[in-house]
Formats: sequence, structure tokens, C-alpha cells
Amino acid sequence: MEDICFLVQGSAEEPYKVTFKKNGSNILAYCTCPAGMHGQHCKHRFRILDGRDDGIVSDNKDEVMIVKSWLRGTDVEAALHEVVEKERVLEKVKQDLSAAKKKLARTMKE
Ligand SMILES: [Zn+2]
Repeated sequence: MEDICFLVQGSAEEPYKVTFKKNGSNILAYCTCPAGMHGQHCKHRFRILDGRDDGIVSDNKDEVMIVKSWLRGTDVEAALHEVVEKERVLEKVKQDLSAAKKKLARTMKE
């Protein structure tokens, strides 16, 4: 089993430790932030899986691409795509809602 660890600066003073383990055709990911410790979605793991290195304070930012390459064909990749797609839909709904509110406001003026 291969391991890659990153230190990520979050809202706490102490950086969070984000660990990825390649386990055969699956990826395990852990984070020491409160959400991660409770097994919930956390942006620290998500960002790295998405290939982004913002917030990483350890000197191995280049290893983000290795973690991203582990994704191919895993259940994590499929679940990650679903989240990205839903976020895209949510963004579109937010824009539509904003436009509808503006229209309502316009409709109420003379
Ligand atoms: Zn986290």
C-alpha cells in the first residue's frame, strides 16, 4: 500500500494532515480536520483529489498529481464526478434563482 501525506493549512492554527493510501484499485483518504475525523466530506481531501494544491504547506505539492493519477477507474473517481456535477447544477440553479428574484423585483415596480 502506497501512502502520500500532505500538510494543509485550514482554519485551525495547526495544519491538518491529509493522507491518501492507494489500496489496489481503491483510494483511502483521511484528514485530521473536524469533518474528516467524523468521516464526513471535507474540502481538504476533495481539493487534492481535484488536482489543486492550494493550502498545502508541506514541500510535496508535486505529489498532488500522483494522487490524482490514482483516481482513474476507482469508485472514488465516480463519486467525485457526481459531486462535481451536482455542484455545477447547484451553481446553475443559484444563477437562475438570482435572475428570477431580479425579475420579481422588476415586476413589482410600476
Ligand atoms: Zn479536512
